[in-house]
Amino acid sequence: EEEAALVRLCHRARTDKEPEAASWYREQGNREFKRGQYRAALRLYSKAASHELPGSPEVSLCFANRSAALLHLGHFEVCLEDIDRAESHGYPDRLLPKVLLRKAECLLCLERLQEAQDILKVLESKIAQNGVVTTHLTQLKKLSQLKVKLHEKERCSEPAQEARGGIPGEPEIWEKNSRISGASSSLSLRFDAERGRHLVASQDIVPGQSLVKEEAFVSVLCPGESLPLQDGDTAWDTRATNADLYCHRCLRPLLASVPCQGCSYAKYCSQDCADMAWQQYHRTECSLGALLLTLGVFCHVALRTVLLAGFAEVSRLVEWSHRGDKNLQNPEARCKPLSDAGAGSRGIPGCGSNGQYQSSYQALFHLLPHTEQHSPEHKFLCMLSVVAICKQLQATGLEAAVLNQESPQQWSKPKTCGKTSDELSPELKTVAEAMLRHVLQLQCNAQAITVMQELG
Ligand SMILES: [Zn+2]
Ligand SMILES: [Zn+2]
Repeated sequence: EEEAALVRLCHRARTDKEPEAASWYREQGNREFKRGQYRAALRLYSKAASHELPGSPEVSLCFANRSAALLHLGHFEVCLEDIDRAESHGYPDRLLPKVLLRKAECLLCLERLQEAQDILKVLESKIAQNGVVTTHLTQLKKLSQLKVKLHEKERCSEPAQEARGGIPGEPEIWEKNSRISGASSSLSLRFDAERGRHLVASQDIVPGQSLVKEEAFVSVLCPGESLPLQDGDTAWDTRATNADLYCHRCLRPLLASVPCQGCSYAKYCSQDCADMAWQQYHRTECSLGALLLTLGVFCHVALRTVLLAGFAEVSRLVEWSHRGDKNLQNPEARCKPLSDAGAGSRGIPGCGSNGQYQSSYQALFHLLPHTEQHSPEHKFLCMLSVVAICKQLQATGLEAAVLNQESPQQWSKPKTCGKTSDELSPELKTVAEAMLRHVLQLQCNAQAITVMQELG
C-alpha cells in the first residue's frame, strides 16, 4: 500500500527525458527570443536541451538557439562553447552558415581576429559550394558586414590584453589549530553525551574573526518548491527551479547548462562537473531522480553521503557500531551515540587515533543521531524512505554501483536485470542502516541550526 502511494507521488516529480517537453520548451524559448527576452529564452532552451535524448539532432538545435541568446547577452565565450556543442551534436549542415556567422561575430567581439577570419573563409567557400540561391540574402549581407568589421579591427589592432594575474591566495586569517584541521586556535573540541562533538572557545574571540573553514563533506542542491503538485497536472513549467539555476554538483549559478545524459533534472556548469558527478554519485542517483525528489533532501543527502564515502568505509563503520551491542535486533541500540572505541586518544568520537579532527566520513558518522528524541512515527517514516531507496537500487540493478563492485566500463549503463526479491541483500541492509543514521543526524542538526538562528 505504501509502495503504491509512493509510486503515485513520484509521478508528480518528473525527472525522465520527455522529447515532447523538449520541443514545447524550445518553442517557448523562441517566443521569448522574439520578444527580446534573451535571459528567459536562455533558460527555456536549457530546459529543452535537458529533455532531448542524447545524440538526437534536436539537442544540437537547442544549443544553437541558446548560443544566439548568449550572443545577445554578451556572453561571447559561453556562446562559442554552445556553438561547439551544437556542432559536435550533429548540427544540420544546411543550417551551418547561420551558426558560423554567429561564431565569427563572437570571435570579432573577443578580438580573436585571425580565428574570425578563418571562419569567414570557411563560410565563403561553403556559400560558393551551395550556390547563392540556397543562401539567405541576410546571411550574405551579414557576411560582408563582418568582413568590413574584421578589416577595421585589423587596421587598428592592439595586442589583445589577457593581463589576468593569478588569483591571489586568500590570506590566512587565523592561527591554525593543531588538533582541528581548518579551525582557528581560539577553539577547542569537546564531547558530551547530550550535544555530541562540539566546539568551544578556548580564548576570547574578536568580532569578525574567522573560526572555521571546512569544505562540506556532502552537498545536495535543494530543489526548491515549484514542483507541480496537482494530480494529473501535465503542464510543463516554464518557471526556473533551483535545478535550472544552479549546477547539480558544484552549486555555481548556471548560464549555459550541460544536461545530464540520462535525466532531465541534473544540469551542470560544465562537462567536467557532469563527468565528475557521474563518476562520484550520479550514475547511481540518475534513475532514482523522481524518488529522491519525492522523499526529500535529507534522504538525498543520506544516499549521496554513503556513495561518496564508498561501501568499504560505510560497512567498516556500521560493523564497528554493532560491536558491543547486546541486542542486534534493536535498531535503537544500533544508532546509539558512539563513545568508546574509535574515539581517538582524547576520547572524542570521530577523531583520528592521534586525537586529530579532520573532515572525513568517520567524523560525520559519529555525529549524534539523537535516536531517543525522534518520535517512533518519524523513525518509522525515515526507515520506510530509506528502504524504498534501497529497494529501487536493487530493482534497477544499481546495487553493484553502490557497493563499488563494478568495473568502470559498467558505469555508463547499469544492467536492468535486477533481482526482484522482496528481501534486501545483506550489503544493502548495511547501506540502509547507514542512511537511516544520516537521515536522523540531519534532522537533529537542522533543528540545532534553527535553534541557533532563533537565539541570534
Ligand atoms: Zn559545476
Ligand atoms: Zn541524470
